[in-house]
Amino acid sequence: MSDTSPLTLGHFHGGIHMPDHKAESTTQPVAAVKIPPRLILPLQQHIGAPAKAVVSVGDHVLKGQLIAAASGRVSAPIHAPTSGIIAEISDHLVPHSSGLSARCIIIDTDGKDEWAELPPPIDDFASADNAVLIERIRESGIVGLGGATFPSSIKMEARNNSIDTLIINAAECEPYITCDDMLMREQAEHIVSGIHIVQHILGVKRCLIGVEDNKPEAIKSMSAAVAAASLQNTSVVTIPTLYPSGGERQLTLLLTGKEVPSHGIPANIGIVCQNVGTVYAIADAVLKGRPLISRIVTLTGEGVAQPQNLYSLIGTSAGGLVSQAGGYTDKAHQLICGGPMMGFSLRTDEIPVTKGVNCLLVASTADCPPPEPATACIRCGKCAEACPAQLLPQQLYWHSRSRNFDKAQDYHLFDCIECGCCSHVCPSHIQLVHYYRFAKTQIWSKEKEKSKADHARQRHEARVARLERIAAERKARMRKKKAALKSKKSGDESAKKAAIASAVKRAAAKKAAAKTATDTKG
Ligand code: SF4
Ligand code: SF4
Repeated sequence: MSDTSPLTLGHFHGGIHMPDHKAESTTQPVAAVKIPPRLILPLQQHIGAPAKAVVSVGDHVLKGQLIAAASGRVSAPIHAPTSGIIAEISDHLVPHSSGLSARCIIIDTDGKDEWAELPPPIDDFASADNAVLIERIRESGIVGLGGATFPSSIKMEARNNSIDTLIINAAECEPYITCDDMLMREQAEHIVSGIHIVQHILGVKRCLIGVEDNKPEAIKSMSAAVAAASLQNTSVVTIPTLYPSGGERQLTLLLTGKEVPSHGIPANIGIVCQNVGTVYAIADAVLKGRPLISRIVTLTGEGVAQPQNLYSLIGTSAGGLVSQAGGYTDKAHQLICGGPMMGFSLRTDEIPVTKGVNCLLVASTADCPPPEPATACIRCGKCAEACPAQLLPQQLYWHSRSRNFDKAQDYHLFDCIECGCCSHVCPSHIQLVHYYRFAKTQIWSKEKEKSKADHARQRHEARVARLERIAAERKARMRKKKAALKSKKSGDESAKKAAIASAVKRAAAKKAAAKTATDTKG
């Protein structure tokens, strides 16, 4: 069943309207990217523990071959996006706001694009065991492609029938980004297959596909695909264009009227939320046996010659993708990973695209004007009006700025989704969200330090206890040895005394015998 007419929509607090800049990158179909000479694959492309390399420098690898295994439940494996030789396993710059390097597997591609043997397709997924399907999703390295990069298999694990609603997040509310829009326009049927698989695994009663009303073509093709597949209780729901309607909490509230609890997740209220690109990847894994080795990336902004969407192999450099989109224009001012609201600046374009990168915005000064100098807060309250998480951004700002992190947490710092609405509306041009990111980083690093210190203290206490035990054992051994020596010594002395006494006795007896003999003669 496809139903584009609601459903009474819920409402979330705040949010902002702004030019969406979607049209620039949706004028041409998604294009495939040429295989670059080198791919750089960070071991950490997901939330959780980094993957562990299972290849060595010099190994020849095939497309789709496992090159790094998941190193725990919350982790995801990585596969070779094409065939080639492992050139290095070394540190390289990765797409992260910190600008730091991390461990990467670097493949020199051979241009042959030869596939490894893939696991067999599970065409009849409705008859397959849930555990088999979830394992396929896990071993295919699928993570949330909306940017969260949480390993998808974990969301799929059995929840004792506690999940009744599946939400497909197709809102794509951030300006400039259009990769989900283009995926829906061009691949709606495969997306719907992925939705069917996820519905089957979770055993949900209904599925709501939330799409903003600025994507009429995507809404049309998704509605047609849902209708053609005769998916039961599945609706394409058109939602108003309002940033950030694609936030997990905001979309849940819009579509179901239910609020995800503070510090909680949608599963706490019987909902699982998956990004539209993620369910497409799930269909690939289950129906074709293909791991996650590529994704659509939006190349946009006035700084790139031909804004468009590209099917990119994971590990392709940002610079390589910009070249495929016609190169830089004279207006190129800033390279942003993600959109203008939640993205971050890259210092170089020699950074690889990872599973979570949905957009490279080559911004001109018109796209992203340089921030005006901040002035003092005038306590206008506009930031609180705009905040979709119903926080008090001004208070958070004071406490984050004065490094009063406990107080910032009292004001629910960790409920902040870093959407940037507050900074956007602030008449004093205060980059509020930067302060929250700073505060969060400080708190995390303090917690990390504390846990390190706790670990070191525990190790120190264990060492002291071990040394004390060894000393006590040594003392006990010494005591035992001394006691044995003492007892041996006293035993020796007694024997000596007894021997002397016996010798004296024998001598006396001899003397007495001699005397008796003399008396007899006399
Ligand atoms: S919007 Fe800016 S100036 Fe107004 S209260 Fe918030 S921080 Fe202060
Ligand atoms: S960045 Fe955080 S505090 Fe600011 S509007 Fe968004 S959720 Fe609210």
